[in-house]
Amino acid sequence: MRCVDVLIVGGGPAGSSAARVLKRAGADVLLLDRETFPRLKLCAGWITPEVVRELEMDLDAYPHRLVTFPRLRVHYGKLSVPVPCVQHSIRRFEFDAWLLERAGAPVEQHNVREIVADGDGFIVDGAWRCRYLIGAGGTRCPVYRNLFRELNPRAHELQIVTLEHEIEYRWEDPDCHLWFCDEGLPGYSWYVPKENGWLNVGVGGFAERIKSAGQDIKTHWAHFAGKLDAGLTRGAHYDPSGYSYFLRGRVDVVRRDNAFITGDAAGLASRDLGEGIGPAIRSGVRAAAAIVDGAPYRLDDVTGMSVTSIARSMLTRAARPFGPHGRRRAGEGGAADGLRHDNQ
Ligand SMILES: Cc1cc2nc3c(=O)[nH]c(=O)nc-3n(C[C@H](O)[C@H](O)[C@H](O)COP(=O)(O)OP(=O)(O)OC[C@H]3O[C@@H](n4cnc5c(N)ncnc54)[C@H](O)[C@@H]3O)c2cc1C
Repeated sequence: MRCVDVLIVGGGPAGSSAARVLKRAGADVLLLDRETFPRLKLCAGWITPEVVRELEMDLDAYPHRLVTFPRLRVHYGKLSVPVPCVQHSIRRFEFDAWLLERAGAPVEQHNVREIVADGDGFIVDGAWRCRYLIGAGGTRCPVYRNLFRELNPRAHELQIVTLEHEIEYRWEDPDCHLWFCDEGLPGYSWYVPKENGWLNVGVGGFAERIKSAGQDIKTHWAHFAGKLDAGLTRGAHYDPSGYSYFLRGRVDVVRRDNAFITGDAAGLASRDLGEGIGPAIRSGVRAAAAIVDGAPYRLDDVTGMSVTSIARSMLTRAARPFGPHGRRRAGEGGAADGLRHDNQ
């Protein structure tokens, strides 16, 4: 059996952020992920200026596709409003692999199943022993399943169901569009351009409310795809995939002995827009700090709302008009046919 001080399960933004802090502090850390990177992660890939700051990202040095938006186009019924705020889009396929590599921690491919408490630590699948364990495995995280499920049962009313597809497409409209409550969807649909002719479109909403209205997410997708075909993405071919995750509810217990829960595994995505990358990074960093410095691991101020970040960006933008500080405002190129993620 191999022994490490810290074992991280999951190499998404939560796991790689924790790994980076631990590695920098000289900890003996190993990260396990069931996939090899780069790997598909269903996500619109919209990131906020806070995420850029927290990751200490130099936008000009980022080696992959990145677009900076000077505004969001928000639609509600017949109302269409440009919201002046700075936001960015990346492709998760590239971004997560870059974050993980940057963390500099050893990574092994392994699908974690069983976790057993052992003295002051844990044994994982009978193959690894660790003193500290960080659960960063997303919605189906085995650390959540094995150690936290009874302590933090998930609230079904906060479950989000989504359908999305990221395709190569020579888009013409460079804005990020969000349609709220279209056709009664208890959520929103999105159009997020990526650099060099990639595009992410999708629909997401509260699973229970969609069901109790006698609808299903596929019907909402069909409506949305029809709308795109009539306007923004004529002739594009979509074959969407689904994923489900939980918005921020009560997270009573985030640490159990030497085990920590972070990101989607803890259900930390923002209540209003389902933004989960920022909360994943923040919680990963804090879990690592709790191990390195003995700091308390608390998530009370990991924001549950995205509008506060958007409002902050609007104020900043009002004070300093959008200019050359944002990188790559528009890209282009790419075929009009959809390319499935698994072809990448
Ligand atoms: C369709 C969609 C669109 C979204 N759009 C946005 C957006 O635009 N902006 C935003 O901020 N948020 C968005 N989110 C939310 C965001 O994607 C998540 O909140 C975020 O990825 C959470 O990061 P994480 O590190 O906690 O988990 P993840 O990114 O899910 O990473 C978990 C990792 O754990 C690994 N893993 C899982 N199980 C195991 C196991 N048993 N053993 C080993 N490894 C395992 C997985 O392979 C994965 O690499 C979106 C979500 C969806 C579904």
